[in-house]
Amino acid sequence: MLQSRARYLLLLLGVQLVVMALLYHEGYRRRVAYFLGIFYKGGAPAGLGGPQGSTHNASLPGDVYANLSLIARPPLRPEELPYCPETSPFLGGPIRVTFPPGLTLEEIVRKNPYVTAGGRYQPPDCDPLHRTAVIIPHRNREQHLRYLLYFLHPFLQRQQLSYGIYIIHQAGNYTFNRAKLLNVGFKEAMKDEDWDCMFFHDVDLIPEDDRNLYTCDRFPKHAAVAMDKFGYKLPYKTYFGGVSALTPEQYMKMNGFPNNYWGWGGEDDDIAVRVALSGMLISRPSIQHGRYRMIKHGHDKGNEQNPRR
Ligand code: BGC
Repeated sequence: MLQSRARYLLLLLGVQLVVMALLYHEGYRRRVAYFLGIFYKGGAPAGLGGPQGSTHNASLPGDVYANLSLIARPPLRPEELPYCPETSPFLGGPIRVTFPPGLTLEEIVRKNPYVTAGGRYQPPDCDPLHRTAVIIPHRNREQHLRYLLYFLHPFLQRQQLSYGIYIIHQAGNYTFNRAKLLNVGFKEAMKDEDWDCMFFHDVDLIPEDDRNLYTCDRFPKHAAVAMDKFGYKLPYKTYFGGVSALTPEQYMKMNGFPNNYWGWGGEDDDIAVRVALSGMLISRPSIQHGRYRMIKHGHDKGNEQNPRR
């Protein structure tokens, strides 16, 4: 009798030791994620499941704000949050791009309650795997900027990124210089935070599919591969315009962007040459994901075509 009891206790101790060893092996965050996964699969706060507990809903009608209401802050301290999953459960695929009339900045603020001053965001429900700064060169395009921000904020939140949006405004009336503004943006953004990816983004391009991830790749990335203005295909093989992304290391390796392209055109082609000269390739999303709608606009005063491009 005594002997079988001792054996039973020994077995119990053994099981406990194995469980403890397993938990330590997995690490604290993963343990929390694991338990959260079980908990939320039970039906509590929607949208907090891991890759398996996904709330992906392919039947969403393409409203870029459709999934945002699923993002909620769980009752955890920041250091207890699980890592965000590799694939965000909030992705909805194609986005319907229409331009709401009379859109105000206040409306954008109201629709994005988790965005803080300076256009910054941290997922409230998980510890992000990526930190992306979006740099937007700007002058006299306030209306376009509102539209872009209206779409970009929820687009980035659906990807569970930590992000910051930097509007780099060229003061005065002198000829516009896009690449120089991008250089300024890079420098200013890196003073703020150790971003691991920089997206260089034209103000008039709206992404049409949230599977076009705003994260960096092994090589400099050209994201705007399928723009409506070019019939949703590349205008030429080395095209690097519209939206591109580099890690700070890739940017430094190619010595940044040229400062001497004044007016429209050429600077993006120069950047593509710099990528090649520094021994790197160009990475691109698929033509299905890298779709963009361009906001139509007339000729920009102060950004005439550069005849020497
Ligand atoms: C210009 C580029 C531009 C491209 C597509 C080229 O001729 O040099 O800057 O992006 O056309 O419009």
